[in-house]
Amino acid sequence: MPTRSFQHELVGVLGMPVAENPTQAMMEAAFADLGLHWRYLNVEVKPHDLGDAVRGTRAMGWRGFNCTMPHKVAVIPFLDRLNPAATAIGAVNCVINHDGVLVGDNTDGKGFLESLSAVRPVVGIEVVILGAGGAARAIAIELALAGARRVTLVNRSPRSAHELAYLIQSQTPAQVELVPWSSSITVPESTDVVVNATSIGLYPNHDQIPPIDLDSLKPRMVVCDVIPNPPRTPLIERAGQRGCAVLDGLGMLVNQGVIGLALWSGLSPRPQIMRQALEDVFTHAPA
Ligand code: NDP
Repeated sequence: MPTRSFQHELVGVLGMPVAENPTQAMMEAAFADLGLHWRYLNVEVKPHDLGDAVRGTRAMGWRGFNCTMPHKVAVIPFLDRLNPAATAIGAVNCVINHDGVLVGDNTDGKGFLESLSAVRPVVGIEVVILGAGGAARAIAIELALAGARRVTLVNRSPRSAHELAYLIQSQTPAQVELVPWSSSITVPESTDVVVNATSIGLYPNHDQIPPIDLDSLKPRMVVCDVIPNPPRTPLIERAGQRGCAVLDGLGMLVNQGVIGLALWSGLSPRPQIMRQALEDVFTHAPA
């Protein structure tokens, strides 16, 4: 008789596409480090199959799952309840299965906050956020809830920027300013933190840089990019050359994964193990 179990605890990510999502490598490195007999599966789910897929995770006793594009909002009707962050942001990237009760959370913004807090206290800061999509929403809401004084949203399409501004104004004490993004913008002198929360610079368009006046980036500013691949985007490179402290998208990716795995397992994974696994993936990826 075999003495070891051939049955794993399951978690994973539901999205479309998922083939290039590297979260599996980071999570499975943490499982090995923690001695967990778990697997993390990348599962491609078409939008019209999402309800069946979510019910399937419950039927199979998955500990939980991550949601990625295009399911972060669409998954909400299939869950039993939402935690406050997911309610405030209006999107779910992490679902926890509590004995068959599926609870939606959003750990993207908390992951970002964790990275930023390590280099700059957030209370009272002025932030410029480029973009108003899912990542920008999560970051803006968490920063505003954590005490950021002023959030300036710079976005191409006015509708999503107005929606996010309304969310911030109705749920947090932070001041909000909207800046339309039709040509290169100048970062105000009083800015403490600049965040690229657009997809500009994401592989394979890894030579692109958001249209901002790079001379307006001052050494006292922290410049952050959400792009995880490549970790050193042209924006991060140029801001670093100008003397700014920089945060790459791997930190946010790792930290949201640390928070998610802690929610699923009750354990405390080591971020450096997870970051190393991602760096190994990107070092060996075609650039
Ligand atoms: P969305 O599609 O929801 O939003 C994309 C945003 O980028 C929109 O605001 C869009 O503006 C803007 N944008 C895209 N292209 C341009 C352009 N050429 N010029 C100006 N604005 C542009 O995507 P997400 O918010 O979900 O993801 C954004 C990025 O964040 C992705 O690259 C993703 O990989 C990354 N991400 C990283 C995470 C991490 O842990 N590091 C976690 C989650 C996401 P408009 O509204 O005008 O279209």
